Amino acid sequence: MPRLALYPGSFDPITNGHLDIIVRGLAIFDSLVVGIGENIAKQPLFSVEERVEMVRDALGEIPNVEVISYSGLTAKFAEQIGASAILRGLRAISDFEFEFQMTLANRKLFPKAETVFLMPCLSNVFLNSSMVKDIVSMGGDVELFVPPGVVERLKIKFGGA
Ligand code: ADP
Repeated sequence: MPRLALYPGSFDPITNGHLDIIVRGLAIFDSLVVGIGENIAKQPLFSVEERVEMVRDALGEIPNVEVISYSGLTAKFAEQIGASAILRGLRAISDFEFEFQMTLANRKLFPKAETVFLMPCLSNVFLNSSMVKDIVSMGGDVELFVPPGVVERLKIKFGGA
């Protein structure tokens, strides 16, 4: 049976770190759904529609991956799409405690999906969307950190285009 994994997150915006995990995930699973969720704890810079578009643009012609937005519980969404795994990226130790908690909660809510963690390459280990937004807001360059289409959208958001 083909194995589908859900890669959930805010992707506000997608970075090279997210792409790194997607490519690694596709080497293990038959297909991936990138799930763009509404995180009630975070006030996003980009709308869900903008985030979906940016991920689709960044993926280009990469096959076997679909981008879908969702609201509500990640475990519910994973069940809905028939995922056998939830894919997450692990950066520094700082991610660990939160991810551990989420994994145990998701396991209770949807035991059929195993959460799988992948680590990015060294150059992406310290990369996160908040840092990228901070850099752009202060006039810095983020070309090395995000896909090309995202650079433009960030500049527009921060009025520097
Ligand atoms: P969330 O709001 O759920 O943390 P994010 O969009 O920040 O969503 O991240 C989604 C997933 O991608 C998380 O598992 C996160 O750890 C992972 N991730 C984000 N940036 C990186 C990176 N630079 N390297 C590896 N994984 C990453």
